[in-house]
Amino acid sequence: MVTVHLKLVEENTKEAETKSTLKFLSTSLQINAVHPSLQNITNARDVTRAAIKIRVLTGTYTLQTDLFKFKKSLTDICPLCKTDPEDTAHFLITCPTLEPNRTVYHKAIQATIPCVYLHRPRLFNSSHLYTQLLLDPSHASLTALIDLEQHTRSTIEEISRKMIYNLHIKRSTLLSISS
Ligand SMILES: [Zn+2]
Repeated sequence: MVTVHLKLVEENTKEAETKSTLKFLSTSLQINAVHPSLQNITNARDVTRAAIKIRVLTGTYTLQTDLFKFKKSLTDICPLCKTDPEDTAHFLITCPTLEPNRTVYHKAIQATIPCVYLHRPRLFNSSHLYTQLLLDPSHASLTALIDLEQHTRSTIEEISRKMIYNLHIKRSTLLSISS
């Protein structure tokens, strides 16, 4: 059993609310609480997957928009599909090149939220809200819209952890081939 603790104290919470790179991270966590992204980690593979997800969640996973923002590239256009800027939502939801690698996970996540939820269409039609769901379903911007049960959030966390890791592997492989 591997236990990983992410401690979020009040100062960090205030900092997170003012940093755009932390916009997807829930800031309403208890001191010493284990962030949901790090719960249900039972083996080394889960640790590896969670590490990638945490990087995406905290804005430290470098995408093309980051390279452009920090003047390390002349373009923010996705190097895989070469159609749109590569930001977090593009990577997780819309990049057509990665579509075959995410479809099964998206279907599984959408199946966890029944149609009885009034705001379900709004959630899945908004790339920002959908990205939020994939990265941190406990974020206040989501819970105000759609109050999911704890076991549903845990299921979404586990599916998205696997999906993000697989997207990361596929992206890294394609980029190493093209370079
Ligand atoms: Zn793309």
